[in-house]
Amino acid sequence: MKKIFALLICLSFTSLHAQTPQKLNAAEIHESIKKLNFLGSVLYIAAHPDDENTRLISYLSNKIHARTGYLSLTRGDGGQNLIGPEIRELLGVIRTQELLAARRIDGGNQFFTRAIDFGYTKTPDETLNIWNKDKVLSDVVWTIRNFKPDVIINRFNHRTSGDTHGQHTASALLSVEAFDLAGDKTAFQDQLALAQTHYPKRLFFNTSPWFYGSDKAFEKADKSNFLKFETGVYFPSQGLSNPEIAALSRSSHRSQGFGSAGSRGSQLEYIELIAGEMPKDTSNLFDGIDTSWNRIEGGKEIGEILTNVQANYNFKDPSASLPELAKAYSLLDRLDNGYWKQVKIKEIKEIIAACAGLYLDAKVSSANASPGEDIEVSLEAINRSNSSLRLVSVNLSTAKSSSKPGIDLTNNIGWSRKLNLNIPENVEYTTPYWLRSQFGIGMYNVKDQNLIGLPETPRDLNVEFKIMVEGTEIPFTKNILYEYTDDVKGEIIQPFEIVPAVSVKFNEKVMIFPDEASKKISVVLTSQKEKAAGTLKLQVPDTWKLTPEVADFEIEGKGASKTFQFNITPPNGASESEIIPIVTIGNKKYSDEVVTIDYDHIPFQSLIVPAKTKLVKLNIKKKGDQIGYIAGAGDVVPESLEQIGYKVTLLDVHTITAKNLAKFDALVIGIRAYNIVETLKFKQAELLKYAFNGGTLIVQYNNNRGIVTNKLAPYKLELSRDRVTEEDAEVSFLEPEASILNTPNKITAADFNNWVQERGLYFPDSWGKEFTPVLSMHDTNEEPMKGSLLISEYGKGYFIYTGLSFFRQFPEGVPGAYRLFANLVSIGK
Ligand SMILES: [Zn+2]
Repeated sequence: MKKIFALLICLSFTSLHAQTPQKLNAAEIHESIKKLNFLGSVLYIAAHPDDENTRLISYLSNKIHARTGYLSLTRGDGGQNLIGPEIRELLGVIRTQELLAARRIDGGNQFFTRAIDFGYTKTPDETLNIWNKDKVLSDVVWTIRNFKPDVIINRFNHRTSGDTHGQHTASALLSVEAFDLAGDKTAFQDQLALAQTHYPKRLFFNTSPWFYGSDKAFEKADKSNFLKFETGVYFPSQGLSNPEIAALSRSSHRSQGFGSAGSRGSQLEYIELIAGEMPKDTSNLFDGIDTSWNRIEGGKEIGEILTNVQANYNFKDPSASLPELAKAYSLLDRLDNGYWKQVKIKEIKEIIAACAGLYLDAKVSSANASPGEDIEVSLEAINRSNSSLRLVSVNLSTAKSSSKPGIDLTNNIGWSRKLNLNIPENVEYTTPYWLRSQFGIGMYNVKDQNLIGLPETPRDLNVEFKIMVEGTEIPFTKNILYEYTDDVKGEIIQPFEIVPAVSVKFNEKVMIFPDEASKKISVVLTSQKEKAAGTLKLQVPDTWKLTPEVADFEIEGKGASKTFQFNITPPNGASESEIIPIVTIGNKKYSDEVVTIDYDHIPFQSLIVPAKTKLVKLNIKKKGDQIGYIAGAGDVVPESLEQIGYKVTLLDVHTITAKNLAKFDALVIGIRAYNIVETLKFKQAELLKYAFNGGTLIVQYNNNRGIVTNKLAPYKLELSRDRVTEEDAEVSFLEPEASILNTPNKITAADFNNWVQERGLYFPDSWGKEFTPVLSMHDTNEEPMKGSLLISEYGKGYFIYTGLSFFRQFPEGVPGAYRLFANLVSIGK
């Protein structure tokens, strides 16, 4: 029983940011009391951050007052990032936080499985081949067993494979399976030492006209199994309509550019019954489920008290409810442990604190510390009501320091104290738990079953304030936070991070060696100690030569950095390998980098990852020297071409003319530039003129929707949504003799080995006869696609369009991508 208790605490944990002091106003407290008196829950299931219907989630949470969760199978790692350079697992961290930000607005809870969003797939079979189906299913069952939804709602239709992203359909298929398995004690038995089985009552699919192709088709659909809700309701307590709240929530997905404006007025939502019993009252999702306090043993008396609290709530003085709330708390606290007890204890404590205007805070003045360090924690407690509150004790979770003030907290007279916190040597670094172990393409590895499902890593360091409220002792736990005042932004609250005493960072993540010449590699050491001294050694295979072999270092001042340079010489012939740093201080070794992510719309993130750089010695030739580059949505083409010896000039679109472009041997356009750089509309004629006069213009992929020019190419060229998502799809050469495949590098099938995530996207599907398609490729069971690389002569120069995903291959140091791209930029020479 004790284990289940601990776990429930974990799963009721929503987010770190949400534990920064909540300051509910009188109307919000009243809404929270209504929610306290509703004992029913819904779990919404889909595949990605942004799949969720925030309108329905907000409606269920704020109107029905149900405990509402969103299980996103993935963290959205595979998408594109519209606000910064982070991709893959770093993007997954951003999207995790964006979902938590969305839930803080719409009132939902957030969960994930271990599945990785590895990129686009066309079918659920392809998805489930790359994920470990059994593990993802286990995680869905696990989340159901812990969150215990009465009702599950799928975003996607499990019956229509192929209509949408394969991960979407897979999410619905897994949900349908898990619906039956969660209550089955023969399924996933290893979970049952930690969780109990649970049968949800109903499973729905959140259907809409979109799934029927048109409003008309939807009108005609058989709706006998449908429930319909008016979700366009208005909340006077918030001054917002439900769709307005949903839009604020959706606008949290900034990395996807999903800013959304709210609407007012009627908004219907439909859900279709997939499994379980159809409600008799089709306006009530919870029909036949007792959602009152009578639902739990011993709940009747609590329900009577809290019904009165809700009815007699005093908006002018919420603290008038405290004696009754304290009574309800103590009855609740005496019940046997169980799901609803844990959920409601947490809710009622928040309400009690809000009613008293009770502010509790544990802060430090440093963003991070390392194990073994001593740090001062500033504590604050203040009661801002006339109710009787007494501060009984304050305990740091490390247990060594505690304070027993035993003082009355009188109205608006604060208590504060500073305590010394010794960070235990064995405390774990604070980093996203799913990134702690090595992972593959489809699944993160999480060793501790109790962490699975959680949106972020629970913090080990916190402070418990025991407060006597109207005669009842109540513990309130607060995470230790880093708080400071920014001159421009005001109060900033950040997570307090535990980081290694010394972190290591390579400035380059991939180093490409086009020949035998040596290169310099820079390593930055950052110390979290006042004084750090030791040695830095880089580990490489013997075939690579490194000087010096070891560097001694001494760094003074917490947070100070020093940069060290090493000379590295590649072997003859092609080779790929990795450099790993080893920092030794006394008998301790360090090899990790601290990566930080800092955006205004999410809490500051800091991740501990193994520091390493990939080394690639290429067998590559090139022609030409000067490359011009126009940035699009973000790729590493400039750095990558510089690594193989080109000089790359980043161009300001406003100032380009065919004349000043003439000095470039090739001009490369960044990914999606024609989707996002408005000025290109006016400059396209100059770009084409540059090619006509003898230049080589290389345009990388653009989304076929929303292109700023209607003359993307000198000849007919129509983009489509064709893509090849299997990164190992066989590539055949349509024109083996074409110079693009032969000079200066002879391209072979081997150059398409070890590509990552996909071959390419948004290939043209129709083009003028002036274009020569060079490559053919396709996903399993599909027709060959020939539009991935199209070459045309134009005047004295060349125009090349390519949807191949060079932008994904370059950061991973994929040799063939470099060799082929060298041929593209060399073609005019
Ligand atoms: Zn999606």
